Amino acid sequence: MKVWAIPSMEERAAAVGDSTGADEQCREAQRVALGRALEARSDDIQRICQGKFFEQSEGLSREEVARNSMWDITSVAVAAIANWLQTGGVAGHRDRDRIASLGSAAATRETVIPGDRAAHDAPPVEHRARSEVPAGSLSVALLTKLNLWWKDSTCLVLAEEAARLGISPSVLQSATDMVEASCNSSMVQMAKRYDAELQELHERLSHLALHDPLTGLANRSLLLAQLDKAIDRLARHPGGLALAFIDLDNFKSVNDVMGHAGGDELLMAMAARFASQVRPGDTMARFGGDEFVALFEDLTDPVKEAGALAERLHRAAGEPIEIAGEQVYMTASVGVAVVAGPDCRSGEVLARADTTMYAVKRAGRNRVAVVEVDKGQGPIRFAMASGLHRALERGELVLAYQPAYSSKESTVAGFEALLRWDHPDRGMIPPLEFIPVAEESGLMIAIGAWVLEEACRQAVAWRGTLRSDLRMAVNVSGRQLADASFPSFVGDVLTRTGMNPDMLVLEITESILLGEHTDYESVLRELKDLGVRLSIDDFGTGYSSLAYLRRFPVDQLKVDRGFVKDVAEHGDTRIMGAVVRLAHDLGLEVVAEGVETKRELATVKELGCDVVQGYLLSRPVPPSCIDQSLSKASGGKPSSLVMMTKLL
Ligand code: C2E
Ligand code: MG
Ligand code: MG
Repeated sequence: MKVWAIPSMEERAAAVGDSTGADEQCREAQRVALGRALEARSDDIQRICQGKFFEQSEGLSREEVARNSMWDITSVAVAAIANWLQTGGVAGHRDRDRIASLGSAAATRETVIPGDRAAHDAPPVEHRARSEVPAGSLSVALLTKLNLWWKDSTCLVLAEEAARLGISPSVLQSATDMVEASCNSSMVQMAKRYDAELQELHERLSHLALHDPLTGLANRSLLLAQLDKAIDRLARHPGGLALAFIDLDNFKSVNDVMGHAGGDELLMAMAARFASQVRPGDTMARFGGDEFVALFEDLTDPVKEAGALAERLHRAAGEPIEIAGEQVYMTASVGVAVVAGPDCRSGEVLARADTTMYAVKRAGRNRVAVVEVDKGQGPIRFAMASGLHRALERGELVLAYQPAYSSKESTVAGFEALLRWDHPDRGMIPPLEFIPVAEESGLMIAIGAWVLEEACRQAVAWRGTLRSDLRMAVNVSGRQLADASFPSFVGDVLTRTGMNPDMLVLEITESILLGEHTDYESVLRELKDLGVRLSIDDFGTGYSSLAYLRRFPVDQLKVDRGFVKDVAEHGDTRIMGAVVRLAHDLGLEVVAEGVETKRELATVKELGCDVVQGYLLSRPVPPSCIDQSLSKASGGKPSSLVMMTKLL
């Protein structure tokens, strides 16, 4: 064929009469011819490579070897060399890079090479994630060999074709130089790609070891390591840190209703929300299940800032979430431990945040409680428990009273006694911080006894100055209720103080009544027989099962603040409306607690709640405030309590 008829250099020179130009043209023609010849023998090169591979692979037929798609690389690389020869370009960097990147792409793509030992042991490629594709030395070795086989066979074919076509040695040399160069840079690229993949794999593995696979947040190990470092830093830099333990309320029911996939979706969405709320430099972690932990660092006013940051997370948890086309409303219980100095261990801080979160759960869920981890203390719980013993003896426990208002008459209907610890060094400590310790250390029965007696004594004292129909509500803990002598103790207190049983309301949280497997029915009946009123506190945070309302002899339902807030915010009054109607049908009085805004007040009034209580109307105050406002009122001036009633 004409194409293969290459003019000799002399013929060329004679034809054009210019020896330099003719020489160049002749070389170009020879390169083109060699390129075409090489292209035509691409399959031969591939067969030679396959033959070599077949010799090294045990137990594979030639067909099995030939079927593998990795052989594309040999034809792609041959085509690239042939193209370079035919277009006459100099083997510049760009050409070599192109060939090399083709080679390395083929070398590193996720192809399982039959006979590769690493690949034999591994699952089929379609079941493997990218990071699991073996990047072992055998694969690299094999691919390196392939490169070398390709180079040798291409050079061999080029030499054969050059001899057949009478190509000058210098043209052949430049072709084989090109093959050599592309083979070398292909191997270097391939090695680089493998290094990069190994590095990426390493990074992915260390990420997996320190992060939660579902949400991508830090895991327990990473958070504890960060916490240790942050505590160490406190020694060098003044300031504070805080750990917030967040547990979603009733997450189990999401899993029950929406399945685990729905639960996972919710956790992922929640994780993304939490992560977007923390500041750069803070750590957001998931400890498993529905437990999230946030570490806040560099706090200048630790208690205040940590409280605000935790409130932010609490609010974020409360935003409606769409899962599988359904709007889901969640709440969270958050316990925050604040550390102001370096003298504590990370385990201690974590334990404090954890117990505080549990205290929130026990007290009705859906809120934030902040505690301070004291510096220089030994085991904190022990310190607090012994401190509590002293607190009882030294009279450091005090009661605050929060008025509750009748929504119809717009007058004070009674008070709720709320416990505080007036600590000599730390000031007023809220109940959620020490009640769990009191419960665990067995002190709660003694403390609860003091609360009941003190509240009754106060109620009787106020009888002289206040209306005689004002009720006194006292919170009762699970420990007290489980104590068989509790009803007779209540009877004794009533007698001792002269309290009218009908004016005493014992508040028991819904989670206490239904949370444990203890049957409180008989103890409730004994209490009822004394003539006292029973109230279910924090209704709507626990099981919200209405069935038990019929079973227990209760008089009142206190609808939790979370419920009230939700209804006012989202405007969906159907459930709360049904609860109020059912409670009324059963003859129960309904109290809305935690009313903070006028909108919430309007909503609960509209829904028919009989009594309202909340910061909007009055915060819990010391008894002296109530005495003061009453005496003012009796003096004819509008008292603060009376003013508050104007909102109603
Ligand atoms: P609780 O019985 O549900 O009491 C209501 C809590 O909500 C009180 O918190 C009160 O200060 C707070 N609160 C009242 N109005 C509002 C409002 O508008 N917005 C918000 N955000 N909160 C409001 P406190 O005094 O910190 O008590 C927390 C819990 O500790 C009580 O919840 C109760 O479960 C428990 N507790 C308090 N005193 C005693 C006690 O003497 N014995 C027992 N066993 N538990 C107590
Ligand atoms: Mg209460
Ligand atoms: Mg409550």
